[in-house]
Amino acid sequence: MNQIAYEDFTLFMSALKFGAHKHRWQRRKDAEQTPYFNHPINVAEVLWGSGAVRDITILTAALLHDVIEDTETLPDEVERDFGKVVRSLILEVTDDKSLPKETRKELQVQHAPHLSPGAKLIKIADKICNIKDVIYSPPPNWSIERRLEYLAWAERVVKAMNGCNERLEEEFYRLLKEGRERLGGSRWK
Ligand code: NDP
Ligand code: ZN
Repeated sequence: MNQIAYEDFTLFMSALKFGAHKHRWQRRKDAEQTPYFNHPINVAEVLWGSGAVRDITILTAALLHDVIEDTETLPDEVERDFGKVVRSLILEVTDDKSLPKETRKELQVQHAPHLSPGAKLIKIADKICNIKDVIYSPPPNWSIERRLEYLAWAERVVKAMNGCNERLEEEFYRLLKEGRERLGGSRWK
């Protein structure tokens, strides 16, 4: 049986602690207002489970992928505790929040093909988790149309990373189909 290295587990545990602390006051946008940090945990779990990703740097960056975008955390703070590679992976998947939302969404599509292989993995796992949320635990005020628009945009981003990881792509497109069937078949459409 494969053994997990002591240092890897220590790094991952300290990212769990760091992320849980940084996101502690935030909630997801679903009706239940799920604690925000459940989302990065899900992203890391999708990489580990569905993607069979075993690179601890990528798994650690996945746990922390929203700390720079959505909390006061500075890149230097991440580098000090988790190293340069984790910092740079996170920055690759961090949107510039000073730009209008439409521009940010378009830039994600344009930048996706040029991301490093590790950042592409985090990006696709993030999209898997977010479309799952949009399908099964959406923000309560979102119309069916808006949810379908989100799925279409996520598909554009994932298409732009074609070939990044077969298992994760398969999972994404399976969910996308499920979501479209579910939402498209709704009597509210
Ligand atoms: P937001 O960016 O406002 O919200 C989606 C993001 O919120 C996700 O990418 C995710 O990001 C985070 N999130 C937190 N909780 C949830 C959850 N439960 N379900 C899904 N996502 C969650 O929305 P949009 O991506 O839709 O961006 C706004 C766009 O919507 C604009 O392009 C605008 O034109 C359009 N719009 C459409 C409307 C319509 O009715 N058709 C109405 C208003 C706007 P993370 O992983 O970073 O947490
Ligand atoms: Zn995310």
